[in-house]
Amino acid sequence: ELYNQIQDTKGNIRVFCRCRPLSKEEISAGFAQVVDFDAAKDGDLGILTGASTKKTFKFDRVYTPKDNQVDVFADALPLVTSVLDGYNVCIFAYGQTGTGKTFTMEGTNQDRGVNYRTLEELFQISKERSDSFTYNISVSVLEVYNEQIRDLLSTSPTSKRLEIKQSAEGFHHVPGIVEAQVENINEVWDVLQIGSNSRAVGSNNVNEHSSRSHCMLCIMVKSKNLMTGECTNSKLWLVDLAGSERLAKTDAQGERLKEAQNINKSLSALGDVVYALATKSSHIPYRNSKLTHLLQDSLGGDSKTLMFVQISPSERDLSETLSSLNFATRVR
Ligand code: ADP
Ligand code: MG
Repeated sequence: ELYNQIQDTKGNIRVFCRCRPLSKEEISAGFAQVVDFDAAKDGDLGILTGASTKKTFKFDRVYTPKDNQVDVFADALPLVTSVLDGYNVCIFAYGQTGTGKTFTMEGTNQDRGVNYRTLEELFQISKERSDSFTYNISVSVLEVYNEQIRDLLSTSPTSKRLEIKQSAEGFHHVPGIVEAQVENINEVWDVLQIGSNSRAVGSNNVNEHSSRSHCMLCIMVKSKNLMTGECTNSKLWLVDLAGSERLAKTDAQGERLKEAQNINKSLSALGDVVYALATKSSHIPYRNSKLTHLLQDSLGGDSKTLMFVQISPSERDLSETLSSLNFATRVR
């Protein structure tokens, strides 16, 4: 198993870098590609920072624009299936708006992403193991916007304030959120669509809103070993983060400024937590944002973390690309 092989020599954090193709607009506007994939197979990514200067970055995997959803999921597979063995797992997609975070996690109807493929695989494996185990799978879909949690599966019109609580056993949860029991893969896409569609409610621009909020899918797995009677509870978080781009100076006021500060705060908090874990710090600052507080059970301890750093190949996005790659190398 890929994941367990590298795990012996490294911590529990993996970083995969994925670059989307140049868009039609970028091609017709004549933007050059600044990403060099010559050593992508070895996990090395080159960024042409000038006419004759190149910076290289090292990752556990590098995906070129030619790699598809199947290629990407194949590498995440050992990690997602470990949730059936009782591990907590967290996968998140980080990057500037427009680099493919939603494409990687959610995907499209024709080109489904990690979220759907994960559930598909979990059902498949639980079926194969049904002689020895029973599994109970449920999902919640949340959004964190301006440091407030919203339940995207809730149908109740009154949106009461949702808070994170810690149970007597030490687990973190959000009392009152919908946990939708899913019995088979046919039910999954519908539930994910409900979550995805409710992100739009109450905002005048869907894309803008979703680029400024964190969208979080939580898959909860209860397992019972039929021979020994042993039970486990584990959680897999799949997170499409808010865009990491810096705010344009012209937008630096009012509601926009507040949003940007909250995004900044939570993404830095996430960076700080992952960095503290990677460097085996004695204090892990989970409480600095709703995002890291929610993810607490699935970040650190013996849980497994995978970060997709998503980038654009275009010279137009060079400075944001470098800033994302620097964020990612800090935690690796
Ligand atoms: P983000 O969520 O980071 O803002 P999106 O996932 O919305 O970015 O991607 C922006 C656009 O690029 C979408 O039209 C998406 O379909 C396309 N795209 C992103 N990644 C890929 C990829 N690897 N292959 C093909 N198209 C992609
Ligand atoms: Mg998106």
